[in-house]
Amino acid sequence: MNMNDNTRIDTQAIQAIDGAHYLHPFTDNQALGKKGARVMVKGEGIYVWDSEGHKILDGMSGLWCVNVGYGRKELADAAYKQLLEMPYYNSFFQTTNIPAAQLAKLLTEVTPPQFNHVFFSGSGSEGNDTVVRMVRRYWDLLEQPQRKVIISRHNAYHGSTMCGASLGGMSGMHAQGDLPIPNITHIEQPYWYENGRDMDPDAFGIKAAGWLEAKILEVGPEKVAAFIGEPVQGAGGVIIPPKTYWPEIQRICDKYGILLVSDEVICGFGRLGEWWGCEKFGYKPDLMTFAKGVTSGYVPLGGVMVGDRVANVLLEKGGEFNHGYTYSGHPVACAVAIENIDIIRREHLVEKVREETGPYLKEKFEALADHPLVGIAETCGLVAGLVLVKDKKTLEAFDSALEVGMVCRGHMFGNGMIMRAVGDRMIIAPPLVITRAQIDEMVALIRLCLDKTYEDLKQRNWI
Ligand code: PMP
Repeated sequence: MNMNDNTRIDTQAIQAIDGAHYLHPFTDNQALGKKGARVMVKGEGIYVWDSEGHKILDGMSGLWCVNVGYGRKELADAAYKQLLEMPYYNSFFQTTNIPAAQLAKLLTEVTPPQFNHVFFSGSGSEGNDTVVRMVRRYWDLLEQPQRKVIISRHNAYHGSTMCGASLGGMSGMHAQGDLPIPNITHIEQPYWYENGRDMDPDAFGIKAAGWLEAKILEVGPEKVAAFIGEPVQGAGGVIIPPKTYWPEIQRICDKYGILLVSDEVICGFGRLGEWWGCEKFGYKPDLMTFAKGVTSGYVPLGGVMVGDRVANVLLEKGGEFNHGYTYSGHPVACAVAIENIDIIRREHLVEKVREETGPYLKEKFEALADHPLVGIAETCGLVAGLVLVKDKKTLEAFDSALEVGMVCRGHMFGNGMIMRAVGDRMIIAPPLVITRAQIDEMVALIRLCLDKTYEDLKQRNWI
């Protein structure tokens, strides 16, 4: 983008009103107010530009959502057309709208065969609130109202509403606001590098799934309603489970008749090289939360795919389910989603990740493991994570108070690369349209910034 004088933006003026009035999510707003937020003004493909004209490679697809890349005119056109035709109507008054009905049908075509129904929400968090209400409704209708407990994992992320944050396993979120709400409990995550390095990964996967069975027995199987998990934990730091984990989770859920919920808000829509993470890892959920990639983040939309096991009970025994949102089935969001899914299909993005860019990223990104700062580097489809370590031989970690991940993130941002830090785990999830040449460019940038971080840490005497 040419930042000529006509398009020049008064960064300081925007920062001033932003700092004075806008409370940012997950942000120390006082600190940000002093520093001033970076003003993002444009996106094209896998790149974004800030108001000072810096071009930045967006290794995070915004927040794991811009799957088809920035600047897609087709999506803007779909929204514009629908905005003129019928910008809004609700689905409460025994009414529907054309894009919502069409998207519902389309979603059943791109999801596994057990899914023939969808409930729409406006976001992933709302989708998971719907999950909690629907799971309880299901067991009530089956006259097992005592089945209330939902089991999740520590370090999971399922959103920021009261239910979403409770299902999530982020201690920092639980600490603010007396969470989790009752009847939600957590088991340890399947993080081999941290919890199972002394074991074969497959054996560790079975062990980690076994924590679910232990929890079910502790709670009492007759009280457990559902288990929820992300196929690969995203916000927790791209935690990729061993391949044995999910099939064993499935076996345990089946054994006790517990509903299995896959939170596909990040992993859905091709991110792992299959349409859905559950397909990649070989399990069959009863409910599936989605958001983000459904519209590539261009407009807000989320929802829950409802498998036949649950849908049949709701439909046959159900009556009215007293739940829904103003924006359930929003026509503009649904119109954009239809076009977005069409792009994913037309451009064969799922196959591209599975056969071309996923394996290529694996080869290039995992080679970063030779860097003196890197303990492990791993990928799954188009998500990837590496761990910064103090001592490469012993894999000794840095003191967490040093926030080495944030130091590294600063070097990334400063050199035109968006890579997120989760503790000392550096993660990426680039747009699915990224090419091989752009993967080369991205991995070269990451290596350069790892070098700069290494020099910086040496100067600080931290290594
Ligand atoms: N579930 C998962 C797995 C997520 O990653 C997120 C968002 N990062 C959410 C739920 C919440 O989605 P939203 O921010 O749209 O509410």
